[in-house]
Amino acid sequence: FEPWNDPEAKPLIEFQNVTKRFGEFTAIDDLTIGIYEREFFALLGPSGCGKTTLMRMLAGFETATEGKIYLAGQDIAPVPPNKRAVNMMFQSYALFPHLSIWDNIAFGLKREGMPKDDIGERVENMLRLTRLEKFARRKPHQISGGQRQRVALARSLAKAPKLLLLDEPLGALDKKLRQDTQFELMDIQEKTGTTFVIVTHDQEEAMTVASRVAVMDNGKIMQVATPDRIYETPNSVYVADFIGDVNIIDGTVTPTGEDSYALNWKEGQEPLTVKTPNTFSDGQTAHLAIRPEKVTITADRPEGADNAVQGKILDIAYLGNISTYHVELPSGAVIKAQAANTRRISRRAFTWEDTVWLSWTATAGVLLAN
Ligand code: ATP
Repeated sequence: FEPWNDPEAKPLIEFQNVTKRFGEFTAIDDLTIGIYEREFFALLGPSGCGKTTLMRMLAGFETATEGKIYLAGQDIAPVPPNKRAVNMMFQSYALFPHLSIWDNIAFGLKREGMPKDDIGERVENMLRLTRLEKFARRKPHQISGGQRQRVALARSLAKAPKLLLLDEPLGALDKKLRQDTQFELMDIQEKTGTTFVIVTHDQEEAMTVASRVAVMDNGKIMQVATPDRIYETPNSVYVADFIGDVNIIDGTVTPTGEDSYALNWKEGQEPLTVKTPNTFSDGQTAHLAIRPEKVTITADRPEGADNAVQGKILDIAYLGNISTYHVELPSGAVIKAQAANTRRISRRAFTWEDTVWLSWTATAGVLLAN
């Protein structure tokens, strides 16, 4: 399932040079993007970057100042919110407290004037889909937070929208329930074939559920890609830093061969060896983004490593399956390395103040211009 790689495929949603201003303030800045049918698309970015504004334009609560938005090929600007095949699920769920779960799910369908039998069938389907059959007669205060979240989802899907917008849908749930619910969401999205666009602050959540992730900053999309591509090949220091843990090593480059560079960094005595398909000119400033799990930590100097530096362990974050080591170089710079905890803690390989070697291959990181 990769419609974005198919030149014939037409996106379900298209933003064409969309700008949204609130007075002098530009919340969305000349944004162009396509989202395909059946995608689970995640918008990720810091508070205030414009995620909710983008969703509200799709739902019809805001209009674009400039540019066009198409849904299934149709310009949506003149279509009022209730006539769009779009539904939005809010973090607060906004269930009706005096109505049963059944009636909460049926509410929108009744208002639409759907025949009674059809409503019954649709509600039963939704209850089954969200595994809420047992709770149909209860009121919202008589079920758990996770169950309420599922009711809100059932209600938003009852009208069979083409597009469901989810604004921090799991924000109110604790971590464990949140993780379980992410898998339920993916399952429900797949079963219904509805296109989901989710806004989240949580990068792990975005990586788990999404077919593609868009990383936003200041009303712009910085990169759109599948979770693995965005993690492995970020296009900027901003994206590398926003998604997961990363070491950023700044320096200037000297070309040394095809796709090969020496990175002269102020913290290191010897230049680093980097292989990258990105092109740099002699003397250009560059940033090596390297994930902690790509840095190997050893007691002795590794033989034949492309890059090796010595340092002292400053901090250890024990995370059960892995530990993250903060290693201080003689210059004072700190590099993070991760290692699997295959031994028992009492016999852990490294401890505080140990002098260790960090090494990585020439292709372990990504060399970025900005
Ligand atoms: P968060 O993650 O905190 O919800 P967000 O990325 O969803 O943030 P938006 O709610 O889209 O951000 O807001 C983007 C920017 O636009 C913010 O700086 C916000 O203050 C501004 N903004 C949003 N709505 C309005 C409005 N109605 N009038 C003026 N400014 C607004």
